Amino acid sequence: MRVQLTANNKLYDLEGELWEQKFPFYKTADGFTSLVGVRASCPPGDYPVAVTGFDAYDQPVKLEGTVAVADGGYIKEKIVIAAPDKKKIFDPALEEKKMLEYRKVQGIITRKSDEQLWAGTFTLPAEGRITSPFGTYRTFSTGGEERHLGVDIANKEGTPVRAANRGKVMLGEELIVRGKAVIVDHGRGVFTIYNHLSGIAVEPGERVEKGQVLGYMGSSGLATGSHLHWEMRVFKWVVDPLQWTTATFTYRSPEEEAAAEAEVERGYEEALAAAPPEAKETAGGHLQPGELIPDMEGTD
Ligand SMILES: [Zn+2]
Repeated sequence: MRVQLTANNKLYDLEGELWEQKFPFYKTADGFTSLVGVRASCPPGDYPVAVTGFDAYDQPVKLEGTVAVADGGYIKEKIVIAAPDKKKIFDPALEEKKMLEYRKVQGIITRKSDEQLWAGTFTLPAEGRITSPFGTYRTFSTGGEERHLGVDIANKEGTPVRAANRGKVMLGEELIVRGKAVIVDHGRGVFTIYNHLSGIAVEPGERVEKGQVLGYMGSSGLATGSHLHWEMRVFKWVVDPLQWTTATFTYRSPEEEAAAEAEVERGYEEALAAAPPEAKETAGGHLQPGELIPDMEGTD
């Protein structure tokens, strides 16, 4: 959702706090704006938001408001797990590896990059059938529960998986749960994550155009069949990527957005016309404690 603040534009360093998480505001044509995510498990209702910053005389200011959360209409489903899969999913050794992976991903998606690289709407990263939408609440026949915090697109192994919008590759390697995964930073706290790939075609640090092939669909990591589990984060919050494929969220003025979108769309056309790249050798088993970034906070 978009949190909008209309104020004297002499204010600076504005920071909001919502659900015990801090997030920055950016100066926009009509005041100050921040795009924030709402947890799928958040009950509908009004929530207080606090904003702090400084005025033109360097005096601290504190503002308060509320944001309204509506019902997401998420699906509830029950998953029946056959005995051999039970061990695979609820193995305690796996839980520890999952935690290392979680912290590694958190370390990447909490990095700050102030430039908005994306423009316009995001595109579905692969052709296929959406087999599980975002937010589905699952209970397992073997006990336990989870909420599906991504969108599943199923198709045959090797189906190209493309960047949903312009961005920069932050990770391209094999993880435990996600398998071969790519994380793209679109700037200003917006990240997309592409999981269970059979091969990766990009490297960290690379700028990618919307539609550029990141890798190929597969079933690496904890996956029962060939599909793409597509995730999206906004300042650490997990959000529904499908929402971004139909609505434009932007910090730009309408004129700036139209110009940026035309440029991104040109890159998109070129990326779709380009020959699909070869998958590269992918490093895996990288999750050593020494690699972790120590100052990560929060959970989701
Ligand atoms: Zn999934």
